[in-house]
Amino acid sequence: MRKLAAGNWKMNGTSEDLDEILTLIAAHPAPKQCEMLICPPATLLARMAEKAAGSALQVGGQDCHAAPSGAHTGDISAEMLRDAGANWVILGHSERRQDHQETDQMIRAKMMTAHDHSLAVILCVGETRAEREAGRALEVVAGQLDRVLTRYRSDSDIGCRAENFAIAYEPVWAIGTGLTASSTEIAEVHSFIRNHISKEFGILGATGRAIRLLYGGSVKPSNAAEIFALPNVDGALVGGASLRASDFGAIVAAL
Ligand code: PEP
Repeated sequence: MRKLAAGNWKMNGTSEDLDEILTLIAAHPAPKQCEMLICPPATLLARMAEKAAGSALQVGGQDCHAAPSGAHTGDISAEMLRDAGANWVILGHSERRQDHQETDQMIRAKMMTAHDHSLAVILCVGETRAEREAGRALEVVAGQLDRVLTRYRSDSDIGCRAENFAIAYEPVWAIGTGLTASSTEIAEVHSFIRNHISKEFGILGATGRAIRLLYGGSVKPSNAAEIFALPNVDGALVGGASLRASDFGAIVAAL
């Protein structure tokens, strides 16, 4: 399985930023070492997908609703993401958990809808600073995985395969703060996640070794190579440094 470099533009970007991806594609027309993905705001998705058509760059959504359609003003469905050209969606980002009170149960429902609509999923997990300081990081991550993946434990019809599922470990205290988890912290949590999904989940257990584990939290060109050299790190989910092609391209090159 190739590594995955995923960019999350969050609530950033207007039409004039779209050309960043043309620069990125020109610099990395066919990266052999990784898949490249950018998740722009929903307003740019279709236009970005058109610009990226035929290139190595994939585009994705930053969230989707659990329901297939209906009376949910302001929300976006998995089918709409597909229709706009997305083939990935980020679910359970800590900013959605905080800003929109998303629970693991809601994230599980979204993930099942996303897989039903053939969207690959990046599931975000991670502890807060207080939880880490209390020595609870592994317990928190395990709880999130168990609650989101419970239906995935043994149901082989659920549509979850290694190539359409990645887990991003994103310590909340490292997102957008400039703080990065230490190599020891990242290696410990990634190894824990790898063992946990292989051991606990039937369907994932079969493919657990192949599921990509991404690190996210202030990844930038200057620290990417060190992070990517760690065991069980199969790529990155990048926020701030994905906005500029030069920074994201340097991260892609470090994979
Ligand atoms: C993120 O948005 O998932 C993220 C990790 O952000 P940043 O790289 O800016 O910390």
